[in-house]
Amino acid sequence: MTLKTYRKKRNFRTTAEPSGERVKRPKGPSLIYVVQKHQARSLHYDFRLEWKGVLLSWAVPKGPSLDPSVKRLAAPVEDHPIEYADFEGVIPEGEYGGGTVMVWDLGTWTPEVPDVDAALEKGDLKFTLKGTKLKGSWVLVRTRGFPPGSGRTSWLLIKHRDRYASTDDVTVSKPRSVASKRMLAQIAGDGGGDVRKAAAGDP
Ligand code: MN
Repeated sequence: MTLKTYRKKRNFRTTAEPSGERVKRPKGPSLIYVVQKHQARSLHYDFRLEWKGVLLSWAVPKGPSLDPSVKRLAAPVEDHPIEYADFEGVIPEGEYGGGTVMVWDLGTWTPEVPDVDAALEKGDLKFTLKGTKLKGSWVLVRTRGFPPGSGRTSWLLIKHRDRYASTDDVTVSKPRSVASKRMLAQIAGDGGGDVRKAAAGDP
C-alpha cells in the first residue's frame, strides 16, 4: 500500500488532483468508501475502499449492479490518497486520466472478514457498504484474469442477496453526484472541461 505509482502517473502542477502529501483523515474508526464516476478515454466507475492509509482502487467499466446475479468486472488500479475521496472536477486532457470525475457515491465500509489483508491476498473480500446509493453486503472476488489467458488479474464486484439487492439499474436511476447533485456535463462545464465528452457519460 503505497502512493508511489499514483504520484508517478501525475503532474500535480497541472492536475487539481491531490498529491496525498497532507494526510487528512476524518475522525473516528469508520473506513471511507467512495465510487467516482470517471469519463476519461472511456467511462468507468472507480470503486475505492480505505485501507491502511490509502484508498484501494478498482476500475469498474459498467459500474456497480444491485442485482446479485450480475458480476461486474473490476480491474485493480493504483492505490489513491485518502483525500482523493473528495475530488470532483476536471483532469486536464493529456494528463493521466484526463476527463471528468464525479463523486458518484460516498460513505463508509465495514469488512465482513476478520482479516482484510488475508482476504485481499486470498482474493475474496466480503464487506458491507453504508453509502447513499450502495448499501448492504458485497464481495470483491479475484478471477483468473480478463481477457482469459492474458495473465492479467481482475476482480468481480458482486452484490450479495439482502434487502438492498434490486434489479433497478442504479447507474441510470441515480446518475448525479452525491456531493454536488451535478451531472458529468455540468461538472465538466464548471471546470472548463470537455462538456460534450462528459455528456456522453450522462444517461
Ligand atoms: Mn478512473
